[in-house]
Amino acid sequence: MKGLNIRQTEYEAVIGLEVHAGLAVNTKMYCGCKTEFGAEPNTQCCPVCTGMPGALPVLNRKAVEYAIKAGLATNCSIIRYSRQDRKHYFYPDLPKGYQASQHNLPLCTGGFLEIEVNMSAKKVGIRGIHIEEDAGKLIHDESGKYSLVDYNRSGVPLIEIVTAPDLGSSEEVRAFILKLKTILEYTGVCDCKMQEGSLRVDINLSVRRRGESTFGNRTEIKNLNSVRAIVRAVEYEAKRQAEELEKGRSVRQETRRWDDARGVSYPMREKKGADDYRFFPDPDLCPIVIDDAWLNEIKSSLPELPDEKKKRFVLEYKLPAYDADFITGSKQLSDYFEEAAKRCRNHRAVCNWLMGDISKKLNESNIEVSDIPVSPENLAKLVELTDSGIISWKIAKQVFVVMWDTNRDPAEIIEEKGLRVINDTEEIRKVIIQVLEENPKAVEDIRNGKEKTIGFLIGQVMRKTGGKASPGIVNRLIFEELERLFHE
Ligand code: ADP
Ligand code: MG
Ligand code: ZN
Repeated sequence: MKGLNIRQTEYEAVIGLEVHAGLAVNTKMYCGCKTEFGAEPNTQCCPVCTGMPGALPVLNRKAVEYAIKAGLATNCSIIRYSRQDRKHYFYPDLPKGYQASQHNLPLCTGGFLEIEVNMSAKKVGIRGIHIEEDAGKLIHDESGKYSLVDYNRSGVPLIEIVTAPDLGSSEEVRAFILKLKTILEYTGVCDCKMQEGSLRVDINLSVRRRGESTFGNRTEIKNLNSVRAIVRAVEYEAKRQAEELEKGRSVRQETRRWDDARGVSYPMREKKGADDYRFFPDPDLCPIVIDDAWLNEIKSSLPELPDEKKKRFVLEYKLPAYDADFITGSKQLSDYFEEAAKRCRNHRAVCNWLMGDISKKLNESNIEVSDIPVSPENLAKLVELTDSGIISWKIAKQVFVVMWDTNRDPAEIIEEKGLRVINDTEEIRKVIIQVLEENPKAVEDIRNGKEKTIGFLIGQVMRKTGGKASPGIVNRLIFEELERLFHE
């Protein structure tokens, strides 16, 4: 969409998110069926999760624990007495005719997450987190003649995290999602594989004139499952609504879909007031009561969270705040860092490898941190070898490429390929003399005061030695030899 840039208009966006996260538990919410992703259709279901008459659900204790973990990690209050409600609607992938959810009494309320955008921090309110079950999945045949239904997903445990309308731009939305994702990964609540749908986001968005205190009409864009799509959808929708208002029209309160291929949102259904789901407490499910002992047990099982870890990395490893933020932004990356850092002295160098060459490789080859082919032990060795002057920085980069392909011990690679720094003065002096003989013009230039040309000669020496000559020795000797030439 061309035209209006909302940042330059008198309008601002108001955004609240509803995030569905699939819990990393092995069994479903109310039965013992497996939750494995990608299984043969209808091989992970039973009378309970397909809503057969008379089947009785039993709540998954672990799912409740995970939801509470998510609540604690996002600064929520944990509600000691909560309830499960039936949310009624009909759809072929919902055989019970309702979804078990939590309506008035969710497990967690009143939390927040802190995000940082453009160097300024902001608190984003979390209204609540509740548990609910997922629906099945419809597979529409390409011919358009029929649809198939797979109940493997029905009854899979989810949490829904609802934020306050505190977000104001795509950058803030992005920062929030990444922060939430990191926290869910750290706590092990959700694997956050967005491409498998284990983290799905609904965007509620309205625009209003800057400085106004009331909200405008909002739209809800359903079911986005990549950070990129979320960012694009927010930008598109904010602009679309601002343009509507600019043209003197009003924004229709409606549910929309995002078409990622075309980069547009389009209306799905109109939303007048609250949907009438006829919520009522599920008579098959008893209230959830959490006593002190259970809550304390869950509290003590929480790991160090990203914000704390970031502070510790700055103090303990002396990383700059930006670097610490990058490394702790992924649990796996921070674990990798610590594994390597405890085996060498130069922690900054480990961090630089991770943020530089390793990140680049990961992006290029689209692989996960857990699949980095270089072990933390070997990276630490490479750092030590570079630091102790056995190889140069330049050579380290070459060794790294071999390590990436083979995960071999860098010391072995260096010996095998003869990559050690040359510290032998006489050997280096021979090369320098040769370079000076081969470049009489450059020597002449230096004699006439063009000192910069020395750099060129040093480059020639390094080239001849395959980058292995000790730079300190080269520097010292090249001056010695030039002096000698000039005084001949
Ligand atoms: P509903 O009950 O229709 O789902 P909620 O009040 O529960 O509506 O809000 C759902 C989400 O929409 C929340 O994330 C909330 O922050 C957000 N939201 C509510 N009103 C607005 C608005 N005017 N503009 C943007 N987001 C909004
Ligand atoms: Mg809602
Ligand atoms: Zn089942």
